[in-house]
Amino acid sequence: MTEQTTTAQRVAETGDPILAVEDLSVRFPTEDGYLTAVSNLSYTVEVGKTLGIVGESGSGKSVSSMAVLGLHDAKASKITGSIRIAGTEVVGISEAKMRKMRGNQVAMIFQDALAALHPFYKIGGQLAEAYLVHHPSASKRDARRKAIEMLDRVGIPQPDRRVDDFPHQFSGGMRQRAMIAMGLINDPSLLIADEPTTALDVTVQAQILDLLQDLQREFNSAVIIITHDLGVIAEMADDVLVMYAGRAVEYGPGKEILTHPEMPYTWGLLSSVPDVKADTDARLIPIPGNPPSLLSPPSGCSFHPRCVHADKVPANLCSTELPELLPGSRGPGHVKRCHLPNADEIFQAEVLPEIAPELLEENN
Ligand code: SF4
Repeated sequence: MTEQTTTAQRVAETGDPILAVEDLSVRFPTEDGYLTAVSNLSYTVEVGKTLGIVGESGSGKSVSSMAVLGLHDAKASKITGSIRIAGTEVVGISEAKMRKMRGNQVAMIFQDALAALHPFYKIGGQLAEAYLVHHPSASKRDARRKAIEMLDRVGIPQPDRRVDDFPHQFSGGMRQRAMIAMGLINDPSLLIADEPTTALDVTVQAQILDLLQDLQREFNSAVIIITHDLGVIAEMADDVLVMYAGRAVEYGPGKEILTHPEMPYTWGLLSSVPDVKADTDARLIPIPGNPPSLLSPPSGCSFHPRCVHADKVPANLCSTELPELLPGSRGPGHVKRCHLPNADEIFQAEVLPEIAPELLEENN
């Protein structure tokens, strides 16, 4: 049993989440003033569970996760609130302490494996280096052996030979497998996967998602999967956090949110997904307009300029008052940010596309 598995088990025994984000805000200076990329975000991830974070570009999903990894320039950005990883507060922590946690307690798989891997170093050398950072007493021979073992675990054929390949000698799917191997080489308690399958074709995408799920069970890691692809969320996530303009707008159990959303933006995302049961000529319903500028976000509910339900709320509330994140009607843990008083009734009357229903059944 590894030290990191013990950490995950220790945290599980206390009943505490492996990650607790509370009232997190992230601001960056720009030439036009401060930009608030994430506002008052709170969520938790339990040991061994998967949280899917979904939203359009600029919604704050990647920025908030980079804050968890301590990857923002501490001098340039302003980060407030609390981020606790296995009980340790990391907001305001020194870079030296964060470096010890990164890779060891929390690791990230980036979407562009070709950019994330150094083109001039052999795959095995990069894996071994990641291992040695957290196992300084290990020999280079041990680190190479560990690299081969991890390549084998992520399904790279002939790992003892391919360990000496350069990144350009791997296919896209193999590079992403190598990234997963690097992410897991130190048995982190929490793995953050940022659009891990975006650059891959659908067959390889399915293989990579299966691999992630298998390894998550084996390593008992918690996973955050960041994606705009609701099919990926349906397959992977226990809980779903929907973000818009830097804020959480709906959060709760994945199955409930994917089948009975109560916030119009979530509804819009789901309505723009192909229905697996509909005929192939069925039209998708895109969300009108574009995401807002975070430098000058709309007043009130940030989604109101695009929301087709804003006129159902009296007294122009949608354009004047930011809705609070309040309990929805889909059971414990479900919250939504919307003024609509009867969202559950409105949306019950409409029919959502079925996002891979067999995946939802399997996953829940
Ligand atoms: Fe739409 Fe108003 Fe709800 Fe915002 S608060 S999602 S504008 S109905």
